[in-house]
Amino acid sequence: MFVDSSVYSGRCSCGREHRMVTKAAVIESGCLFDFEKYMARYQITGKRCALYGEHSYAAAADRRPKAEQEIVLDPNGLHADENSTAKVLSLLEPDVEVIVAVGSGTIHDIARFCAHERGIRFVSCPTAASVDGFCSTVAAMTWYGYKKTLPAVAPEIVIADTEIIRKAPFELVLSGIGDIMAKYTARADWEIAHLLTGEYLCVRIRDIMADAADTVLASIPGILAGEDAAYADVTYALVMSGIAMQMMGNSRPASGAEHHISHMIEMGPERFDVRFPALHGEKTGVGSVVAAREYERLTAVEDITPYLTDYTPIDEADVSAFFGEKLADAILTENKEDCLRPVTKEVLGDTWPEIRRIIASIPSAETFCGLLEKLGAKRTLEDIGVASADTGTLLKYSPLVRNRLTLMRIRRMIKL
Ligand SMILES: [Zn+2]
Ligand SMILES: [Zn+2]
Repeated sequence: MFVDSSVYSGRCSCGREHRMVTKAAVIESGCLFDFEKYMARYQITGKRCALYGEHSYAAAADRRPKAEQEIVLDPNGLHADENSTAKVLSLLEPDVEVIVAVGSGTIHDIARFCAHERGIRFVSCPTAASVDGFCSTVAAMTWYGYKKTLPAVAPEIVIADTEIIRKAPFELVLSGIGDIMAKYTARADWEIAHLLTGEYLCVRIRDIMADAADTVLASIPGILAGEDAAYADVTYALVMSGIAMQMMGNSRPASGAEHHISHMIEMGPERFDVRFPALHGEKTGVGSVVAAREYERLTAVEDITPYLTDYTPIDEADVSAFFGEKLADAILTENKEDCLRPVTKEVLGDTWPEIRRIIASIPSAETFCGLLEKLGAKRTLEDIGVASADTGTLLKYSPLVRNRLTLMRIRRMIKL
């Protein structure tokens, strides 16, 4: 599979000009053996540093890209945070011109952040189909405990060897599937925000994302059978999701209420108990089930008018107490210009039939749950270390981790 992403660059019918950094993605069995060929074709020259985790270093043993410097990170407790990036920046030789990430999501986020800091080029070699961040222009970081997306560099090319990807631990592809499943509720949130506030929406980007999501759902039987083509499909969807975010310039097409659920669990507010960690896509997969279920409950109501309330500002004291000293300031700053403020009861009432149609157009919570069950993936809050009794708390506070309009945030104006 070969993706020529230059076709997504340039003027679009949405009125904007989309700018792509990523020129191409190769998704094929054994393509890492041809690494030099692709580097030459896209004229990516200069001194290289290849960044690995210990697992990916072993997995790519017979086909590691040639590099003047290699950094291999210990995967134990490894996160894309202020510590790991400081370590890589201190090790990185000063005249390195290209960082080659060979690994999964965390290695990519560390590499793209460091490439941005140094102002150098970045090439991606994913070794697992675990997250959609490979092509992203931003890095998903945990910065002093706060979940943040920080400016980073997108890869110029992606070389995804499905022979390695297929052999990665099974929970990693499950995580990738969970990250793509999230695109349905994310799309619904984006369409609803567009409807209510006129927030920018590009139909082309939305459709690329929708196609990626459908590709993944269709690949599930093949994943269960261990077929290379199905792994290529999931990898393709993850790459396309990154391309959609690049076209957009932010994560809006890929991330809605389900991601906010995942982010809040990761951040660990003071008054919220998480018993054990889970992978990003495991949390967004469960987040999709939880968000879809709540959205179905709300949109089961045909006439919402009696349940609507006027906009009220965020209760700062309550939010501070919930998130605790470590996170409160960042959360309040994030929500300073509450994106819910322009939404009125009247507009919400008028657009409710259309909101119901949008929610009805995505797969149901039951469908998501059934697919996750078939895969043997995590599908309940208990599975990802959160007590089901805390569902209400999760729904109430999770929209606040990101000032982005979702139906979950709009829920503040619906007493149901
Ligand atoms: Zn567009
Ligand atoms: Zn994600």
